[in-house]
Amino acid sequence: MTQAKPLILLIATGGTISMVRNPKTGALQPADIDTFKDYISELDNEDIGYNIIAFNPMVDSSDVNPSMWSKLATIIYNEYNNYDGFVVLHGTDTMAYTASALSFMLENLNKPIVLTGSQLPMGVLRSDARENLLTAIEIASARDEEGDAIVPEVTVFFEDKLFRGNRTTKMSAEHFSAFASFNYEPLAVAGVHIKYYPHLVHYSDPDKPLRLHTTICNDVVVLQLFPGISETTVRNILSIPNLKAVVLETFGAGNAPSDQWLGDALSEATERGVIVVNKTQCLAGAVEMGRYATSLNLVSAGVISGLDITMEALLTKLMYLLGEKEGNTQIVKQLLQKSLCGEMTVDE
Ligand code: ASP
Repeated sequence: MTQAKPLILLIATGGTISMVRNPKTGALQPADIDTFKDYISELDNEDIGYNIIAFNPMVDSSDVNPSMWSKLATIIYNEYNNYDGFVVLHGTDTMAYTASALSFMLENLNKPIVLTGSQLPMGVLRSDARENLLTAIEIASARDEEGDAIVPEVTVFFEDKLFRGNRTTKMSAEHFSAFASFNYEPLAVAGVHIKYYPHLVHYSDPDKPLRLHTTICNDVVVLQLFPGISETTVRNILSIPNLKAVVLETFGAGNAPSDQWLGDALSEATERGVIVVNKTQCLAGAVEMGRYATSLNLVSAGVISGLDITMEALLTKLMYLLGEKEGNTQIVKQLLQKSLCGEMTVDE
């Protein structure tokens, strides 16, 4: 849609950014739509139109679950042709999971979806809420000379950086720059001007229609290795009923203890059809199976490399693939080794 004034849909799901302090009691409570409008009234003088909808009730992001991802993705899908971009207000705690999930659930996305939140609620001294919100709206409405969206993917804007959503991780419960994208450069940096880096942006094929996927399977588990982990612990986790996939959190470049029992337990799981993906415990860098002898037993056990994917993106990708490709383990394994929407770096 190319029109003089971009139109943005603001969707408030909850979190600190959706809260205001009650002047009488001092307690934090969810804001109403008029409060949001007052708070960003500067926009009335700008060339950007917007509408606001709010989840009822708005929730702390610790309560956001796959059914809320589906609700959010469905709202965006249904309103897709009515807006030029979307801004999602969301608690910071699980924002990276929601951003990652949306990137898989909305295939062939060609419009911006910017998630943002804040460390302090609206209206309190030094709050980061207004800046984050106004800049997120500006980014969601940004278009190039041809009238095309500059960043038509799911992103997270926080403090001064715009990140690809499925590359982000919450890294601070204290600082205003709460998010990081350890393995991918920011798509834009907001200073006096907003500087965009279009060569880093993921563009979907504009001729393909948006597709909504809402079938999610949560039969997954994270198994974090640590020095001294016992065979009983590993075997118990691998025999959880209905288990379909395991994220194996390994050391360094994807290494694990070389005990025979570990290789055997993992081989038995993969032979039963359980998918095991190797994800490093390091925040930056990638899994390189076979680089050290200590990852060779994982290779022979049929473990798949997660390369440089984040935990948030890997879990949501697994949940999406297991849901959508139900029962087709081979296809799920193949797609896990591909980058679907820029979530990992794959050498071609
Ligand atoms: N607990 C809040 C949430 O994630 C924290 C925040 O919004 O920053 O909903």
